[in-house]
Amino acid sequence: MLLDRKILCLLPGMMILAACASKQLPSESVTQAPQIINSPAFTVSIMPSEQSLQTAETATRTPTQAASTEPPAITDTAVVLPGPDCTVGLPPTRPDMEGPYFLAGSPEKATLIEPGMDGTILTISGYVMTVDCKLIPNAKLEFWQADANGDYDLQGYRLRGHVFTDANGRYQIQTILPAAYETRPRHIHVMVLPPGQPGLTTQLYFPGDSPYPELTLAIDEESQGVMAVYNFVLATR
Ligand code: FE
Repeated sequence: MLLDRKILCLLPGMMILAACASKQLPSESVTQAPQIINSPAFTVSIMPSEQSLQTAETATRTPTQAASTEPPAITDTAVVLPGPDCTVGLPPTRPDMEGPYFLAGSPEKATLIEPGMDGTILTISGYVMTVDCKLIPNAKLEFWQADANGDYDLQGYRLRGHVFTDANGRYQIQTILPAAYETRPRHIHVMVLPPGQPGLTTQLYFPGDSPYPELTLAIDEESQGVMAVYNFVLATR
């Protein structure tokens, strides 16, 4: 299938992970007990069902439409997610600045898109794992970003929210492509908080204006930038 081939083309990009040291977050943590599972799941890609592929393909045909009605439905297995090469050590994901616009207390929601919101629909998926290739379930991922005009919501939680990794250490969130603002290239802020362990604050960038290749989303360009993948590697074992 065409979509399969396009997604498979992303595999090399997904292997690019950060090479710098991690940093610890001062206070935010998830209350659940640590539960790290081993990595054999990486040997099997999550293959989408025929129906979910059709749904994803349909979504890629209209990425630039404004979300004028209801946010689109999310399919749980819309993206093929390969695992990393666990035969070598994984460099931890590069930290990046939190910036001035983080707002604690965001709601848990699988999509940041709201009715009437303009922008190109973007779905980000991936895994959260340790440097020794263990998947981390129940890790909290906080996302916050500017809108399609480069503006942050400074009063509420528009384009702010969090999700958790599932039992396989996988997360998925739906949002829109942010615009660049001031001197900043397009980016999405992320705070990854594994249960009971040090977290990571970083940013995800986009091909073409990313300052850090290791923090650049792997995007299916042929699908007009709808599907993106990023795996977070935390400096923990
Ligand atoms: Fe920012």
